[in-house]
Amino acid sequence: MIVGQCLCGMVKYRYHGEIEKTILCYCKDCQMAQGALCGWNSPLEKSKFEISSGIKLLKEYFHSPNKARVFCQECGSPIYSYRIDLPDVIRLRLGTVTQGHIPAPSEQAYLQYKPDFLHIDE
Ligand SMILES: [Zn+2]
Ligand SMILES: [Zn+2]
Repeated sequence: MIVGQCLCGMVKYRYHGEIEKTILCYCKDCQMAQGALCGWNSPLEKSKFEISSGIKLLKEYFHSPNKARVFCQECGSPIYSYRIDLPDVIRLRLGTVTQGHIPAPSEQAYLQYKPDFLHIDE
């Protein structure tokens, strides 16, 4: 089981499964949305994902029309995203995980935007 929360702690979630695959994405959208050098995400089954508190604080932002970016309105932490055309999958923002195993990234995307100082073992 995976447990996590936003920075202020008002939004909490559980994932009734394990994280099998994680992805680093250096695209500019991820950098801006996370305020960081990359996004660190995992595709998960929506049916096993449960918001255990603070669901009313979640807000969806559509930067592109088919992709919702879901974040805590109180503290701004990005929690997950999903695509309208893939309703069974969410992409969890792994910096919010507080309990459970997160495997090392098996995929990196948009390497042209990766900062030179960052070195990741493949
Ligand atoms: Zn929060
Ligand atoms: Zn990206």
